[in-house]
Amino acid sequence: MGSSPLPVSLQSKLQKPQRFSLLRDYQGNLNILRNIVFAFFLLRIFRKSFYFLRGHGPIGSVLVLYHQLHKTAYKLFLNMPGVKQQVSKQLEIAKKDMEEKLVPSGPGTNHYRSLPKEPWTKEQLHTELESLAAMKRTRWEEGKVSGAVYHGEDSLLDVQSEAMRLFSVANPIHADVFPAVRKMEAEVVAMVLALFNAPESGAGATTSGGTESILMACLSARQKGYAERRITEPEMIIPNTAHAAFHKAASYFKIKLHTVACPAPEYMVDINKVRRLINPNTILLVGSAPNYPHGIVDNIPALSRLAVSYKIPLHVDCCLGSFIMPCLSKAGFPSPWADEGGFDFRQPGVTSISVDTHKYGFAPKGNSCILYRNRQLREYQYFICPQWAGGVYGSPSIAGSRPGALIAGCWASMMSVGEKGYVDACHKIVSTKLTIENAVREHPALKETLQILGHPMVSVVAFDSVDAAISIYDIADGMSKRHWHLNSLQDPAGVHVAVTLPMTRPGAVDGLIDDLVAVVSDEKERAIERLKAGGPIETGKGTSAQLYGVAGSLPDKSIVEKMAVAYLDTLYKA
Ligand SMILES: *Cc1c(COP(=O)(O)O)cnc(C)c1O
Repeated sequence: MGSSPLPVSLQSKLQKPQRFSLLRDYQGNLNILRNIVFAFFLLRIFRKSFYFLRGHGPIGSVLVLYHQLHKTAYKLFLNMPGVKQQVSKQLEIAKKDMEEKLVPSGPGTNHYRSLPKEPWTKEQLHTELESLAAMKRTRWEEGKVSGAVYHGEDSLLDVQSEAMRLFSVANPIHADVFPAVRKMEAEVVAMVLALFNAPESGAGATTSGGTESILMACLSARQKGYAERRITEPEMIIPNTAHAAFHKAASYFKIKLHTVACPAPEYMVDINKVRRLINPNTILLVGSAPNYPHGIVDNIPALSRLAVSYKIPLHVDCCLGSFIMPCLSKAGFPSPWADEGGFDFRQPGVTSISVDTHKYGFAPKGNSCILYRNRQLREYQYFICPQWAGGVYGSPSIAGSRPGALIAGCWASMMSVGEKGYVDACHKIVSTKLTIENAVREHPALKETLQILGHPMVSVVAFDSVDAAISIYDIADGMSKRHWHLNSLQDPAGVHVAVTLPMTRPGAVDGLIDDLVAVVSDEKERAIERLKAGGPIETGKGTSAQLYGVAGSLPDKSIVEKMAVAYLDTLYKA
């Protein structure tokens, strides 16, 4: 010790050949680098865990992990040899069932699987079209279908057919060739912007339907997040009652999706849970006005306050609400959140709204609008390809060529119905919804068995069974047998009716209530018989009961997924 005055580190440097020392320095730096990378890695995990824990809460986090585990275990179980065979056997039966229901067969049905060699005559075509139109189907004209056909009067169909015939070759991608369609599209957007109280800066586009409008809103928000905040792992937060199109957007555009519960008794999105899930990767908040399952309008003012304070875009899905929502107060009904500033662009946090002109706007199917607070937000949905060999290419939404005929049909519908027509329609539709709602709440034969979900204020009313011995899906199947086409819901279980103009025709809604009373009393009797027999509560054998009652209650949705795939495949069976 003490033989050298030099510090140890320097000593070693001087003693070793230069070459090694360089290598060692290099290795030292590499170690530091590795440590930094490792630290970042840890930080990332820590950050992710932190946001996960904060988002779901300690109990919620455990539950999420538990469900994940449960699902995985169940998936393994389904793949066990014996079970797997049983499942595929059941699936085959279900497929056969679907085919029988969907694909007509037997004598008298012609199948065309290749082009006719000779062109058909006008008469031939007419005859075949007539017989196609007469195919056995649900009678929406009698008001027995929930949703689906929103207007359907001949007078409006005539207006649309004329407009569509005049513009059936038109394609707005060639604005110079079809100036009229460009003009009509711009005017449709302007009129819808005005209905939703857009500011001067407002901008929008027409799309092929609500799904495309929602895809565009999510894309715009994702592009904005990347362009302005360099978000590369985007996340969005939606109510679990929001439309499936948001799941589609998340899947198409690789956006992580958080779904937030909408607890009873109001069935609106839980604002505190939304707040807890917000993190630096959040690109979009969503509220529905109203949602599809229960017809409930989320607390848009509260979502708007979150959007403003965290500087995050907020989309309001008014696809279903379409022209009913802006007409409510003029039609004499309370308008949701009117005393807190409304549900549309009057809320400062609302940055985009989707509005289906092909629902309560009564336009032909294939029409919707996406509205933005400003042009910049719309620009984020544009697709531009300046280097394409076919020339500089720009298109506003998913499609390239678009049907000018549909835009003309939409414009003509809006002009011929007019504000007065929409307010009248709103009055009829919401009054009919009230009739159904009141019957379920007050009719002595219904009120002890059924229960309205929340306080629906628009055109949809949903209900569930409060009698543990009666499954709502058996009621849905009972209504199907009586030729009603209502919609089954899950999580929570329920059935809904979306009232449209055909259902407001005299007698239609009374028929609905009479049949509901009959079905409920049938189910009550069956429940009593089951009780007498002392057996377990057995669910029915109908489609709804099967799909939602049995398959829907399994933790792993792979069986339901396979059934859905089989259904889609069946649609293409010529
Ligand atoms: C119908 C609907 C949509 C969009 O559906 P499309 O079938 O694509 O037009 C979106 N949100 C809600 C609430 C809807 O009811």
